Amino acid sequence: MESIALEIKLECKSCGNSIAMNAMNTEFECKACCEYVKLSQGALIECYTEIIRRVVKDNDNRLKVTGSVIPFFLEGMQCTRLYGKKFPFYDGAQLDMETIEKNIEAGFVIIHEKKILLRRLPRGFDQALSNVKYLVGEDEVQANHLPGDTRKQADGIQPVLFSCLSCGGALSVDGTTRILECNYCKNSSYIPDGLWLKFHPVSMVKRWYLVW
Ligand SMILES: [Zn+2]
Ligand SMILES: [Zn+2]
Repeated sequence: MESIALEIKLECKSCGNSIAMNAMNTEFECKACCEYVKLSQGALIECYTEIIRRVVKDNDNRLKVTGSVIPFFLEGMQCTRLYGKKFPFYDGAQLDMETIEKNIEAGFVIIHEKKILLRRLPRGFDQALSNVKYLVGEDEVQANHLPGDTRKQADGIQPVLFSCLSCGGALSVDGTTRILECNYCKNSSYIPDGLWLKFHPVSMVKRWYLVW
């Protein structure tokens, strides 16, 4: 079994906040400004190919050796990548190939009540990165995001009340839209950052793995 651990984030070109790339996908929602950042599959394949080459051929193991970050540009956006040869470890136990293969059809394995996502490479990536067999530990929302679906993710938080900026009338904020029209005075209110970020917390970089 071979495995590469990845921690990747991008600087959002719209707002400058960081976007965690916790899955192999071509679109990522910026939790701060709610824009979707789209990347070409070719550029991502190049990025993953380079990481695999460095780790496997050159034994360049940055995650383990220094833990330092390496600035890199992905389609004009600053991308920070940490990577290295590391097996998937969860709560002190290594996830082995037998367990991965036994659960790959289910799409996940539960370790100490934590759901660890397992999947094969998405279409397009599978051909180009044919030596990698499985992806382990990706973010579920990011991994399941379909290109072109730009609905905002509001992470299951209950709606809260907000006072209309014009008339003070009660508006219900559920995180799906940033500009609300008041039912009473018909004016629009822009949800301030503090409240908006409750529904769209900035995503944390999470380690995930390429496994073969
Ligand atoms: Zn942004
Ligand atoms: Zn109003």
